[in-house]
Amino acid sequence: MNIIDGKKIAQTLRNKLAKKVEKLDRAPGLAVILVGDDPASAVYVRNKDNACREVGFYSEKINKPSDITQKQLLAEIQRLNNDDKIDGILVQLPLPDHLDANLVIETIAVQKDVDGFHSENVGKLMQNKPYLHPCTPKGVMTLLATTGIDLAGKDCVVVGASNIVGRPMAMELLNARATVTICNSKTTDLSAKLKRADVVVAAVGIAQMIQGDWIKKGAVVIDVGINRLDNGKLVGDVDFDAAAQNASWITPVPGGVGPMTIATLLENTLTAYQNRK
Ligand code: NDP
Repeated sequence: MNIIDGKKIAQTLRNKLAKKVEKLDRAPGLAVILVGDDPASAVYVRNKDNACREVGFYSEKINKPSDITQKQLLAEIQRLNNDDKIDGILVQLPLPDHLDANLVIETIAVQKDVDGFHSENVGKLMQNKPYLHPCTPKGVMTLLATTGIDLAGKDCVVVGASNIVGRPMAMELLNARATVTICNSKTTDLSAKLKRADVVVAAVGIAQMIQGDWIKKGAVVIDVGINRLDNGKLVGDVDFDAAAQNASWITPVPGGVGPMTIATLLENTLTAYQNRK
């Protein structure tokens, strides 16, 4: 069994990006908007800001109060759409209930939508003509590439069908010519589907729900889930120790998919910069 070391792979990607930035005449710029004071969101935003600085990007961290109106938030996004220093705009989700997240995302200019959530970017991925890819699934594809395994013809099972992870993940795998099964909370006999899978991607949000004996011998296991146990420990959606007995490659939590998501956000910001030039 081999560990897919997301922390190390993300560092390699950041180093590569930093080298490219040195040669540019202007630093690529990322703006991250945080609405309210949710502590977990604040940590994600701080990590993104720090990562930007590490690779030499220009970073704007914009904090807005939780009672910001829809109109004010959309105006802020329009301002950033028109700001030449800014190549990527990200609005940290979830947003307070009175704000329409969908409208907010659709207001971000497609060329600056570095989260890849705008319907036009989602549609392009569906058509296998991607422009800016959603970060987590793209990061997973980078991790899978490091195993050297050709995904074409592989049976892949994605557990979870959210717009930000499961669905785009399935599209990325399909675009790599894998055969993809997408599971959701109504899926019957999940274990039987997983037992046939060459590649499992878990993105559910239920601690250790995927059992070790559901993993086929030699399968690749990617755990996107981040769950905090009562004792404070962070775990994924996969029972890591048991699954590692069968997997050929497996991502740990923490230190797997998480660091790749942020590194991929930076990669997308550089792509957005290059596209805008
Ligand atoms: P959502 O809650 O938006 O989606 C969860 C998905 O899992 C839904 O499609 C749901 O089905 C499905 N599901 C729920 N229960 C089951 C079940 N018993 N069997 C099969 N499918 C089930 O979560 P996200 O996609 O946003 O996130 C998933 C996990 O990934 C979370 O732990 C999150 O913290 C983590 N995450 C990690 C990231 C990283 O960078 N590492 C980035 C983003 C998320 P249905 O559609 O029927 O409701």
